[in-house]
Amino acid sequence: GMGNKEKEEEEKQKKGSGGGILTNKLFSELGISELTAKAIEDMNKYTYLTKIQARSIPHLMEQSDVMGSAKTGSGKTLAFLIPAIELLHNCHFLPRNGTGVIVICPTRELAIQTHNVAKQLMKYHSQTLGYVIGGNNMRTEANQLAKGINVLVATPGRLLDHLRSTSSFNYKSLKCLIIDEADRILEQNFEEDMKQIFKRLPRDRQTVLFPATQTQKVTDFANFTFGKNEERQRKLVYV
Ligand code: ADP
Ligand code: MG
Repeated sequence: GMGNKEKEEEEKQKKGSGGGILTNKLFSELGISELTAKAIEDMNKYTYLTKIQARSIPHLMEQSDVMGSAKTGSGKTLAFLIPAIELLHNCHFLPRNGTGVIVICPTRELAIQTHNVAKQLMKYHSQTLGYVIGGNNMRTEANQLAKGINVLVATPGRLLDHLRSTSSFNYKSLKCLIIDEADRILEQNFEEDMKQIFKRLPRDRQTVLFPATQTQKVTDFANFTFGKNEERQRKLVYV
């Protein structure tokens, strides 16, 4: 069996998740690509999945729509980034295919943080990554978009600006839309921007909603995002 030292080590690991409660499920059991697995190993701090990761990643990898409410610090970033990266890897997405995944974050700071985690996860992948955020130079971002940003992290206002006015922005092959911290996005009155964004994006795609808190606004927004039961194309899973 396990020695005391090993047990202590395991307990320590479980407490070191930044508040996220760890499960007994290992990242190595997820059935992800060698490329992502190696990148996670290199990050040197992830062994066990948090609860939200264990509950959501399998559904996300099957391309279900997911509504995953879990408090701040529970590990939502890896939960949505790992399956999104696997998705583009599995369908051999190329820069010339344009944007395949969009992650919308409520603030510039969160967008940059999320981009940094994605950068580490995509270390061995050939897919491209970038971000567009309010305050940055539109023209510079447009030039990047023209080259093809496969995984795009964005703030709502700036994303809408590019959807409206950057002709080189190719999003017609979008496969997955992730809305991180939807509760905060709604608090900042981005609701109308979000509706305008939805109008422009391809409908046949996976949609992922990860609010930190469940408010009435979030529920209404989820109903709007996923549509009514009858018209729903994909299985929606609440985790
Ligand atoms: P959330 O988005 O739910 O607020 P984050 O994704 O930002 O949470 O993760 C919070 C912290 O927990 C980060 O420092 C992250 O590196 C860490 N973390 C996430 N998943 C794990 C895990 N499985 N094991 C250990 N630490 C983790
Ligand atoms: Mg988060």
